[in-house]
Parts: sequence; structure tokens; C-alpha cells
Amino acid sequence: MPDCFAYDQKDALFYDQNIRDRLPKKLVDAHCHVNLPSHVGPLDPADIAGDWALQCGVELPAERAKSILRTLFPDARTNCLALPLPLEQANMAANNSYLAELFTRLGEPALMAVKPQWSPEQVEHDLLAGRFNGFKPYLSFARSIAPAQLRISDYLPETQLAIANRHSKVVLLHLPRPERLADDDNIRDLRMIVERYPDLRLVLAHLGRSFNVDFLREGLVKLGDAASRLYFDTAAVLNPEVYALAFEKLRPDQILFGTDMPFMLWHGRRRWTERTYINLCREDFPWNRHLEPELETDYTLFIYEQVKVILDVTGQAGTDRDRLRTAVFSGNAEKVYRFSTERSGPDASR
Ligand SMILES: [Zn+2]
Repeated sequence: MPDCFAYDQKDALFYDQNIRDRLPKKLVDAHCHVNLPSHVGPLDPADIAGDWALQCGVELPAERAKSILRTLFPDARTNCLALPLPLEQANMAANNSYLAELFTRLGEPALMAVKPQWSPEQVEHDLLAGRFNGFKPYLSFARSIAPAQLRISDYLPETQLAIANRHSKVVLLHLPRPERLADDDNIRDLRMIVERYPDLRLVLAHLGRSFNVDFLREGLVKLGDAASRLYFDTAAVLNPEVYALAFEKLRPDQILFGTDMPFMLWHGRRRWTERTYINLCREDFPWNRHLEPELETDYTLFIYEQVKVILDVTGQAGTDRDRLRTAVFSGNAEKVYRFSTERSGPDASR
């Protein structure tokens, strides 16, 4: 798989004009998939063909992730919360071992992959031995059930919730089902988790997969009071309407910046319909339909588009603006995942 990241002069200019002066001096990417090529192994071509994200490359060693963050944000001290690869065919035990070393080796916190069929005793042992900050279950680990029919308990059994709760850890959850955060079964399951397991912290990836604003609006209404007990990361969300609503309806401490690297490392823009979106992209991936080829050389990085949107929306916060940005770009991740970048290894700062 190719390394998709290519930084050019236009990106540097975009950073200078839109980001440099507004970004806090510390940044934590709270959603970064890290792994070695040896964890991935040969992929089934059918899986690659059916998943646009896989077609863009799935390998990202931790050192490469850190160097990319330094290139993207040269004026900030950067760290990443390392997540396992969300890929059923990958060697998740090896990926977990690699992640467990990261704090000692590079000063980076990490989440542990959990498969639903793993024994609770082993999971609890590995969580503590690896000093992980929490679990990253993933719906593709429940392969026998169609994604549209999945319930959260199919890939995140209550035994694992109980372990996370017992040790006050985080569960970072990618929601199933086409209606995402607005799905009634997901709402029921999320309510159950926050009520029955009050000592774990539940983070919903991609703002509950709310890439379109309707999912977030409907989901927050249906969640009611339970919404105040959830956290949300911003991985791969670029939609200004989603951010405007999130910052209006959620507390400032509930929103954690994340990129979803190695996905989203390329140049492009996103266009939305009511409940779907399309990625317009410069790089020549199999799914790319090149709808506006004459504009592609002007595209900057998706991650820069995302950061600009967050800076624009938080810019409306008046006197609280700087505090809000510091919280979203680093403080919330440190509090929710309970790590300190001050204790990071020598390579963590610049
Ligand atoms: Zn992800």
C-alpha cells in the first residue's frame, strides 16, 4: 500500500493563511490508526474493492504518524492517541503489542483492539499489562452480521464494558447502522451503557458518524440527558454545519480533535447531500471519479480543511475562544483519556 501523504507548497500556504495564527501551541490527534505493514498482511481484494478507505492505504508506523503531525503543524507540540487498525483480517494481537510499547518508546498513549470473542480474563490482563488508555472495538470484528443489522453488543460485549468500567478506562466506539447516532437501537444501547457503566468514559468516533448534520441533530434530541455523558471525536468530520451544531449543543469539554490518519491524509474537499457525502480528491484512488479535475491542483489536505472549519466555528466563541480551542485540540483528550503530554518521551516534543 502506498504512503498517501505528500505535502506541497500550496499546503504550506494554506497553513500560513488559515491555521498558523489561530491554532493552539499544543495539539493531540485523538484518533490516529497506527500499525506496521507486518500487522496488515495480504488483504482480500474483495475487501479492498468494497471499502474506499482501504483503497487509500492502511499502514502507518508510529514514527511516520508523528513526523506527519510535525509537518502538518510545525508551530505546535503534537501528540497522537494511537488506535489499532480497524481491520478484521489484520493481526490484532501483534498490533496491540506494538501499541502497548508506544508510551514507553515514544510517549504516546494508545487504545487496545478488542474482539468480541476474546476471553474477558485475557482482555483484562492485556489492558492492564499494556497500560492502555482504553478499548477500541470495531464493527468489522463481528463479521457474521450484516453491518446494517449490527447492535453495539455484537462487537462490544458487556463483559468488556464491565472491564473498562472497573478500571475507569475509555471505550472509543464507532457506531453501527445506517442511521448512525439517530438510530433508535443505538440510542437504546448508548443509554444502557452510560447508565449501567458510569465509571467508563464513552467516546463516539466521528461525532457519532455524523458526517451530515441531520444525524447529529436527531441523535442529540433522542439521547436527551444521556448526551451529556458522552464524548465525541471529530475524526474525518469536515462539515461546517455539523461543527456549528456540535459546539452549540455540546459542552466544550465533550469534543476531542482527531484526524483519522492514515485515512484523510490526501488532498480534497467534501460535498454533502442531505444524508450522504462525496469525497472530491486529487490523488488517483480507484473510487475517485475526478468530478472537477480542473480544480484538483488547488485542493489542500482534508485535514487542513477540517482544522480550518474547527477554527472558524470556534472563532465565534468570543472571549472563550482560546480556552475552547485549547480544550478541543488537546485538553479534552488529555482529560478523557487520562494521559499527560508532559510525561511524554523525548521524541514527543519539538
Ligand atoms: Zn478511524
